[in-house]
Amino acid sequence: MEPNKVLIIGGGVAGLCAAIHCERQGVDWLLLEASDRLGGRVGSRMIDGCRIDRGFAVLLTAYPELRGMIDLEQLDLRTFQSGARIQRGGAFIRVANPLRHPIRGVISALTGSIGVIDAFRILPIAMRAAFGRSVIDPDASHGFSARDLLRQMKVSEQLIDQFFRPFFGGIFLDGSLGADAAAFEFRLAMFARGIAALPNEGMGAIAQQLIAQIPNERIRMATAVREIKRIGEDTTSTRWCVTTNVGQTYEASAIIIALDADGARSLLPSLPSRAWCSTAAITWRVEAEKLPSALREPILLLDGDGDGPVNHLCSPTSVVAGYAPQGTSLISGNVIDPVALKLSDEELERSARAQMAKWFSVEATREWKVVCIDRIQQALPRQHPQDFEARPKMDQGDRLFLAGDHVTDGSINGAMRSGRIAADAVSALHR
Ligand SMILES: Cc1cc2nc3c(=O)[nH]c(=O)nc-3n(C[C@H](O)[C@H](O)[C@H](O)COP(=O)(O)OP(=O)(O)OC[C@H]3O[C@@H](n4cnc5c(N)ncnc54)[C@H](O)[C@@H]3O)c2cc1C
Repeated sequence: MEPNKVLIIGGGVAGLCAAIHCERQGVDWLLLEASDRLGGRVGSRMIDGCRIDRGFAVLLTAYPELRGMIDLEQLDLRTFQSGARIQRGGAFIRVANPLRHPIRGVISALTGSIGVIDAFRILPIAMRAAFGRSVIDPDASHGFSARDLLRQMKVSEQLIDQFFRPFFGGIFLDGSLGADAAAFEFRLAMFARGIAALPNEGMGAIAQQLIAQIPNERIRMATAVREIKRIGEDTTSTRWCVTTNVGQTYEASAIIIALDADGARSLLPSLPSRAWCSTAAITWRVEAEKLPSALREPILLLDGDGDGPVNHLCSPTSVVAGYAPQGTSLISGNVIDPVALKLSDEELERSARAQMAKWFSVEATREWKVVCIDRIQQALPRQHPQDFEARPKMDQGDRLFLAGDHVTDGSINGAMRSGRIAADAVSALHR
């Protein structure tokens, strides 16, 4: 029996970061991962020479947790243009991101893509996002939603509906703008202070960098934890026994449960249940020369009309050419509408293709070939004010800690942060 062994359950971003921080602080740790790969919800795979990320995701370079953990230069990032192009009434309208470029945002207003009055109403939020200190607390909760915040600022319903709804719908995977205003402002700050990017080798390269920082021999793959049990008479001698799905047992002095909300609840049934936001990503391929011109820029195209089912669209190969073999372009159409998500793959693709035909013409979309349709039921924990209020404590007492994006903020940054905090707490116990 090893007296000070810490077990980390789950090898997603939170678990990997917990392991890195334990390793750096000289804590004796072992990580148990249920599947045959590390990285959890962050990953990439190859299909017919095309790189497919696990759902459409981007890295925001301003995430505070990246510092000291991720070498951005080594990721060889390719960046998105800030702002978006909104599909509205049959045309694409360019909106400069007023958060990153307040001046260009005002020019956008003057040229008619957002109203002048709206531009000035957004300005205080933009300035706070760019320069305010309080907006970078990812664990804060305002207790009211992003939509409420925008309404308080008297931003027009038109701008809310045509820009903020699809843009932040794509970020929270929730088209209601019901996310807590603090989570919304945190992301605004990240967009104002950094850029959205894809690593040259795909989002999976982020997980690969984390994995490279920890020794392999401390990781047990294909080891799903089925049960955790406290052993020992009192809190000073508390130890934990972990049982896996094949009946193996491990003893530990402390545990970090770095699972998603449902996984954590399956081990600790007293935890509150958490609503999920789901998504489907349809990836098409087409000969590069047949890619519609609006998709040739590294920018998000948004469904400003709310017709759906595709909420946000982009060509990953216009951001990173190496995502597909030379001469091939990829198109990623992303669905977040819960009703559309109930359609079968065939119906969903047919409906998305009909929408794309309206955006680009039937002729332009005729030769788009489906590469894959990825459905991710449990993509992001919902982040409404009531969800934030019910977040469980990271320190569950008796040397049991929770990490994972459900205890902080539903993002790569949140997962990294939770892993760091849990590891620091464990390390303090062993000092
Ligand atoms: C489609 C999509 C788009 C996203 N877009 C972005 C984005 O653009 N920017 C951003 O910052 N974030 C984005 N995110 C969110 C981000 O990916 C997650 O918040 C983060 O990866 C969560 O990491 P985690 O470690 O908390 O959980 P997970 O990644 O879920 O890791 C949990 C791990 O535990 C393992 N596990 C489960 N049960 C057990 C068990 N019983 N025993 C042992 N192991 C177990 C799992 O296999 C998994 O490896 C997106 C997520 C999705 C799905």
